Amino acid sequence: TAALSIKNLQKTYDNGFQALKGISFDVQPGDFFALLGPNGAGKSTTIGIICSLVRKTGGNVSIFGIDIDKDFPAAKQMLGVVPQEFNFSQFEKVYDIVCTQGGFYGMPRKLAEERTEKYLKQLGLWDKRDTQARMLSGGMKRRLMIARALIHEPQLLILDEPTAGVDIELRRSMWTFLEEINRQGTTIILTTHYLEEAESLCRNIAIIDKGDIVENTSIKSLLKTL
Ligand code: ADP
Ligand code: ADP
Repeated sequence: TAALSIKNLQKTYDNGFQALKGISFDVQPGDFFALLGPNGAGKSTTIGIICSLVRKTGGNVSIFGIDIDKDFPAAKQMLGVVPQEFNFSQFEKVYDIVCTQGGFYGMPRKLAEERTEKYLKQLGLWDKRDTQARMLSGGMKRRLMIARALIHEPQLLILDEPTAGVDIELRRSMWTFLEEINRQGTTIILTTHYLEEAESLCRNIAIIDKGDIVENTSIKSLLKTL
């Protein structure tokens, strides 16, 4: 079974705008996959549907064989999402933002604490654990979102433009971190509008434009055609 299977996915917003025109693609377990496309192509809409924040108007999404319409709670256990907008409480402390998330997945407090420490350390945020989120830099907030998405150690991690607005040095350290998570077996999908980012990190790619998938291939064969 695919880690993510998207079949004929459609989204028409309430204002009549057709953001997804029936897209299909699969991501295999263990892959590091890029969904590449210009601004407005439909990347965030796709991710919004996968994590059930946006209501689709057609098609199917399965995560490791589980249809999100049939059993979203089971699918959610295998899924970690890092959306573009910072959606944590700005006045909460870094440690609590990550640890509290464990409760949402029904994790015992002790395990949530262990994982919080592990991921805050790996992402260079342990020194900031008692700091309110609003005091963090943009790059730190991004890393906080990643730590929070990993608390239940999902098999599939999806990141929406994770390095947007992140400086080059931090971008490289985030890439290294994501490569390590992928090496340990986590399937990773990221959206980006930089081919360079897809090229440095990913093995397979789907290119989305105006709500359609226009290319779905390996990075190697894509680079040959350019
Ligand atoms: P849904 O069909 O999922 O219910 P809606 O069409 O109701 O989504 O829109 C959700 C929200 O996004 C609304 O508050 C709407 O004002 C806002 N919105 C509308 N147009 C855009 C746009 N072009 N880009 C981003 N957000 C938009
Ligand atoms: P991307 O993430 O690739 O930049 P999005 O999925 O955010 O693209 O947006 C795809 C298209 O759908 C854009 O043209 C955007 O303006 C439109 N859109 C996004 N949200 C809404 C909404 N709530 N209502 C109407 N149109 C929207």
